[in-house]
Amino acid sequence: SNTMRKINSQCKKCRREGVKLFLKGERCQSPKCAMVKRNYLPGVHGPKKSMSKTSTYGKQLREKQKAKRIYGMLEKQFANLVKKAMKDKGNSGNAMLSLLELRFDNIIYKLHLSDSRNQAKQLISHGHFKVNGRAMNISSATLKVGDKIEIKANKIKDAYWEKVNKSIASASKNLATWLSLDAKTMSAQIVGTPEVEDLDQSINTALIIEFYSR
Ligand code: SF4
Repeated sequence: SNTMRKINSQCKKCRREGVKLFLKGERCQSPKCAMVKRNYLPGVHGPKKSMSKTSTYGKQLREKQKAKRIYGMLEKQFANLVKKAMKDKGNSGNAMLSLLELRFDNIIYKLHLSDSRNQAKQLISHGHFKVNGRAMNISSATLKVGDKIEIKANKIKDAYWEKVNKSIASASKNLATWLSLDAKTMSAQIVGTPEVEDLDQSINTALIIEFYSR
């Protein structure tokens, strides 16, 4: 079925990068994860050691592909974000990570309102959210400190939110310091700027910046 093909294509991205990219929500934390099941089988599934992977260019390319896939972005979006970060007066690597974290879909994921960034994208495009009182259905939007997120009144009764509501109280205790969440109303606010230590993945930003500086 289509669903099966989709599952496989997400997990293939992790296998390609040789790291867990956490694209499938709950499955990624379980022994069903394709990286747990298959990563260590010798030969067939091991990371390919081709010239392109070990060359400087190959390393830069893989690192930007990895970051792009973690956040589920298109090449053009990603390139634009990196270029914007490179114009930052401070550390451009940190600026890049900060811009990635401040994407609307990532924020929904980090608030535990979805179990993957892919699911966050779906919820956003299906019109579940308001930002600062206005409908917001653009996953790639960059939010800023002070922005308030809420679930639309006509969506909050959906079975999905009733389910989330049951787990949100414990999830909200495990929140990044730059986010706040009111578990009762499931509304949230960005209360600070994400710092490098707020990141789950080790992304080598220098390699990515080198890639786009070529
Ligand atoms: Fe699949 Fe998630 Fe494991 Fe990646 S981390 S291989 S997406 S289950």
